[in-house]
Amino acid sequence: MTTLFVSDLHLDAKKPEIGNQFLVFLEEEVSKANALYILGDLFEVWLGDDDPDPYYAHIKMALHKITNSGVPIFFMHGNRDFMIGDTFSQETGVKIISDPTVIRLNNQDVLLCHGDTLCTDDTEYQEMRKTTRNPYWQAKMLARPLKERLAFAAKARENSKIHNELTVPELMDVNLDAVKKILLEYSANILLHGHTHRPNIHKIKINGVNAMRIVLGDWFEQGSVVRWDKNGLKLETMTR
Ligand code: MN
Repeated sequence: MTTLFVSDLHLDAKKPEIGNQFLVFLEEEVSKANALYILGDLFEVWLGDDDPDPYYAHIKMALHKITNSGVPIFFMHGNRDFMIGDTFSQETGVKIISDPTVIRLNNQDVLLCHGDTLCTDDTEYQEMRKTTRNPYWQAKMLARPLKERLAFAAKARENSKIHNELTVPELMDVNLDAVKKILLEYSANILLHGHTHRPNIHKIKINGVNAMRIVLGDWFEQGSVVRWDKNGLKLETMTR
């Protein structure tokens, strides 16, 4: 049996081809798998579970169909959809897991995270992350009308675009010391994350011990998936 991992789909009604590819993936592959892990940024933006957008309703229904058939789906927050909450979970049957989470696969501990916490060189982003992950900040945000939240998100996206253009690419990748630190902290030798949109399998050494960092790709041009079965893992792209 196969465990599947994806991240950074950035589903958006304005880019239906990505959503369509995901819906086919759910129907044809996830339905036959052991479990699916979505490691953040499933949606381009999420302003609260009360958003009545019919596109979201459509995706939620497809997720529910899979979990209802007995295939578990786990979701970890990304930096775009960190406001996904319990209502979404109840509506879809998707279980929200914390960042990071350790799972056991083929007798090995695998550390899962979205990846943004490892980009410690981008201090401005880390400050912003601290603010927006505060439960009081989120409660205040969710209390505002959806229209205001939409306006806020549009402005935040604009600022983030400017920030990303002004920041050298190396600073927006993961920091290797942060990677080593978290693997040591959780006593794992395998790290699986997304966020950076730089799909790859990196071999690293921590205190002389072999370790591995697997990075999922985004779904902008094509799908990206890690398939893990009894023979090991494969990082694959899925053409559209
Ligand atoms: Mn991200």
